[in-house]
Amino acid sequence: KTATDRAFFGQPRGLVGLFFAEAWERFSYYGMRALLLYYMTDRLAEGGLGLPADSAKPLIAVYGSAIYLAAILGGWVSDRLLGDRKATLVGGVLIMCGHLCLAVPAGAGALFASMVFIAVGTGLLKPTISSSVGDLYAAGDPRRDSGFSIYYMGISVGAVAAPLVVGTVGQNYDYHAGFGIAAVGMALGLLVYLRSQRHLSPVSSRPKNPLRLAEVPRPRLIAVVAGAAALIGLVAVTVGTGVLDVDGIVDVISVLAIALPVGYFTVMLRSARTTAAERARVRAYIPMFVAAVAFWCIQEQGATVIAQYAEESTDLDAFGFAIPASWFQSVGSLVLIVLTPLFAVLWLRLDRSPRSPSTAHKFAVGLAIAGLSYLLLVVPAAHPGQTNPLWLAGSLAVVTVGEMCLSPIGLSATTRLAPAAFATQTMGLWLSSNAAGQGIGAQLVKFYDPGSAAGYFGALGGGAVVLALVLFALAPLIRRQASRKGATMDDDQ
Ligand code: GLN
Repeated sequence: KTATDRAFFGQPRGLVGLFFAEAWERFSYYGMRALLLYYMTDRLAEGGLGLPADSAKPLIAVYGSAIYLAAILGGWVSDRLLGDRKATLVGGVLIMCGHLCLAVPAGAGALFASMVFIAVGTGLLKPTISSSVGDLYAAGDPRRDSGFSIYYMGISVGAVAAPLVVGTVGQNYDYHAGFGIAAVGMALGLLVYLRSQRHLSPVSSRPKNPLRLAEVPRPRLIAVVAGAAALIGLVAVTVGTGVLDVDGIVDVISVLAIALPVGYFTVMLRSARTTAAERARVRAYIPMFVAAVAFWCIQEQGATVIAQYAEESTDLDAFGFAIPASWFQSVGSLVLIVLTPLFAVLWLRLDRSPRSPSTAHKFAVGLAIAGLSYLLLVVPAAHPGQTNPLWLAGSLAVVTVGEMCLSPIGLSATTRLAPAAFATQTMGLWLSSNAAGQGIGAQLVKFYDPGSAAGYFGALGGGAVVLALVLFALAPLIRRQASRKGATMDDDQ
């Protein structure tokens, strides 16, 4: 039915509901994030938690990475226990509970509870809702990349509105009222999602590879449960006794963010449930995953290094009024919203043409553009003194064009290349490329120093461009690898 459904700008009707549900979820997420640092570091008398900024900042960064890592777990729960629809709903309810924890003035304990709710909830919701988008398209449907670009615009609509509404209410009026609005946003997302259920593919309502407990060997079951309990115990003890301080936690998550995806690729490649054709595709997916890690490593620094550059090295009064440094956080989303219609048409045209670019080509271009966005900053950073804000805005616009070539395309490719038994887990794996990028970024940003910013931007930007060139050269090989054993990577073949 979905293959012929063209109700929404030529796209299946189900896309509308998923677009708005995800827009509201991201609104709640980015709204909460816009407020979090201020809430954590503000003085107790002002309604904050009074934490030092030096511990709050890395904690927030690591929280972001953990949320995307949780997507692997969420993918497993969906594939084996709940199916995408139920997992999305449960995830949404947990996220709402997380925001509600912060909507009441209950101190650091509530913050911790909220972080757990939101990490687990987002881990369940984010991969499953994205995977449901993929299920709207039959194999070979050339609208897939274009559809994901539209869906991705929903993310930006939520992201751009959130700091303005949640941030403003939270900072100017009351933190808890701000977090309360985030909870309302998530509730609206859930309502939209519930209403749009009947337009989703029936595939989304069942686990794709249901777990039959009776078939799992007892010793294995015991090992998994014992291992998980030991891990939780270890974390509780080391954090509780202070053996693992904030720096330690950052390092542990950085390592996990790389180790977990590597481990998961191994599991997928070795699983008896992965067919030979699927294995060929997973292998072809690996170089693209590496490129995505490099891409997110740069793009996600928008909230760290670039935010710092905006505050310290940019002439915020250049236009006769004081530009709030936080405005730069919205540049990317705005550019994305404006350019999405263009890209949706571009992908549709290109993907229908006989010489359509492969996914690897689009990724290489996306990564190269991200590298260029950093190389662009070498120019102002090489000059002493504060620089015109247009440099930074320009660089953020450039990296966003790269994002449009890589991120929606990555989501789309993931739904196409995933082994059937691992469908939503592969989506979790895709999201973990962001976690790995941020994990590496958390280590790299330590080398950033305003005095030598040009060197920092030059090295990272140059590195990304080189990696992109390698991927570009490998693209024909990747395409061939993906088509071995009768599989195909791109919809045009
Ligand atoms: N900015 C994107 C989002 O919030 C990044 C996530 C991703 O696709 N890895 O959805």
